[in-house]
Amino acid sequence: MNAATVCQLLLSVADSLIASKSYLTDVDSSIGDGDHGIGMALGMENAKHALAELDGETNCYVPFSKMGQAMLMSMGGASGVIFGTMFMGGAKGKQPAEDLTTAAFAQLMEDSLNMVKKRGGAQVGDKTMIDAFEPAVLAMKQCANPSFCSMFDAAQQAAEAGMLATKEMIAKFGRAKSLMERAVGHQDAGATSVYLIFHAMHTFVVERGDLI
Ligand code: ADP
Ligand code: MG
Repeated sequence: MNAATVCQLLLSVADSLIASKSYLTDVDSSIGDGDHGIGMALGMENAKHALAELDGETNCYVPFSKMGQAMLMSMGGASGVIFGTMFMGGAKGKQPAEDLTTAAFAQLMEDSLNMVKKRGGAQVGDKTMIDAFEPAVLAMKQCANPSFCSMFDAAQQAAEAGMLATKEMIAKFGRAKSLMERAVGHQDAGATSVYLIFHAMHTFVVERGDLI
């Protein structure tokens, strides 16, 4: 995957999250403060502007960095840091690359995951986006003979299972924490966004048809 394709992939992720604004807000309204869809949509609108300026960029890691920075600066709060880091964290310090292999993509996501965990302090089971992100990364790394299509399919399936599993969890972070057992039965908004992100990546590759 070259840098131009990475840009297109990330643009389609942004469009998908923008289209899910009210769904994400509904999910966050049950146990959070109902702003997750608004925050994500704002971050993704800004990410689109940043990506649109990358015409001619050849380093595959730059679109990830620019997207994350745009999200971090526009979303604010915990989720700005968390989701900004999901995109920019792993790209930090990487040698420029004109082509991103499936293995390099999985490594990038694993490095981002570790950065989000370090910054936010959440682990699997805490009812956050980590519950979808960590299984998605593991699925990408464990994907045998990966193509982008099979790897993103594995990621979206693992993220979806992780997202659904947050329904049964008691939150250790954010507003849902104060609800204790009352948050059980409701899925985490951030985990829902992670699922939508990997789902959008898979859809992009399927629709392109020419990425291996
Ligand atoms: P806020 O909590 O500031 O209202 P959002 O509603 O946009 O922000 O995002 C909330 C989501 O952020 C949660 O659903 C959760 O998935 C994620 N989140 C919050 N705190 C953390 C953390 N420390 N580590 C990982 N994810 C977190
Ligand atoms: Mg919120």
